[in-house]
Amino acid sequence: MLTPTVRKGASLLLYPLLLGGALLLWSSLWLGVGWDADMSMQLVYWLFLALLVVLERLLPFEPAWNRNDGQLRNDIVLSIVTIALNSLATIVCLGAIAWAIARIEPLVSLQVWPAHWPLYVQIVPGIVLWDLGNHLAHRWAHKVPLLWRFHSVHHSAPRLSVINAGRFHPIDIVKSVVIGSPIPILLGVPAEIAEWYAALYLFGGILTHANIDLRCTFFSRFINTPDLHRWHHSPHREETDTNYGEVTVAWDRVFGSYVFHPRGARRNLGLGYTVPVSRHLIEAIWQPLTPTGHRAGPENRIVSLPEGVTAIADIELAALLAATAPAHGPERAADPVHGMHAKP
Ligand SMILES: [Zn+2]
Repeated sequence: MLTPTVRKGASLLLYPLLLGGALLLWSSLWLGVGWDADMSMQLVYWLFLALLVVLERLLPFEPAWNRNDGQLRNDIVLSIVTIALNSLATIVCLGAIAWAIARIEPLVSLQVWPAHWPLYVQIVPGIVLWDLGNHLAHRWAHKVPLLWRFHSVHHSAPRLSVINAGRFHPIDIVKSVVIGSPIPILLGVPAEIAEWYAALYLFGGILTHANIDLRCTFFSRFINTPDLHRWHHSPHREETDTNYGEVTVAWDRVFGSYVFHPRGARRNLGLGYTVPVSRHLIEAIWQPLTPTGHRAGPENRIVSLPEGVTAIADIELAALLAATAPAHGPERAADPVHGMHAKP
């Protein structure tokens, strides 16, 4: 067990050490040793994941989130699908855009990025530009009901952990690649910057889900952190419709969706009772594709944990979920246009 002093020191130092360490190891393998950038990224990712799983046990932000929420198998299956589909969709999408640029004259004229400038000058604006497409894809996933029915599978998780960082509906993944990729490629941002963005997206993204007590106040003003992302997973719409940036918070600041609570922490997450995502994997994947959308009954829907979950951490989570399910009242009426349930 860690002493309070060690725990506080670790909380302050760990976030920059973890993110910086992963980036340093990956870039050393790529640029120093000469390994393939993508292969090095995958290797470092799995090592990073293993380290974060251990740290979630040693230094948890919310101890109750380390308990089985009944979604472990779904989280793992959806994460494997996400990894495979994201790679495939990226290859297809980038190939299609490159093919179009080579053959369609007006697209060539869009290649206005100053790629001849030194890389250290291009890298920050390049990363911010790459984040624009993903910001828009994420924002629209919340604002467009047809897209929210797929993205709500990710938000249905009642806890945050590195295990469910890749919990996405397959359609949600393809949508993010298709919307997120064209802007920087059409403008001519170099491939090296795409690699740096991908590394930040991967290593920073899994950290935003990590159930580790990380103090990120300084970094939350510039990049997406666990502090910001826990509010994004709130069961309340005014809190979840914020902080859409995948790597930076630049576009949230531009579009007014940046929200930071330096002294607060959200510990109950999920969809409330407004989108009845099923606990069963096949139903969770299939139902959004039907005209009716998600329609799990009270007995098999995924529910949020109540406030103050730390104080009741000794109670078995499954029993807790079963006991609290009927107490939250009826869900909202189905959206007559899109056949899905509106968020609160
Ligand atoms: Zn979201």
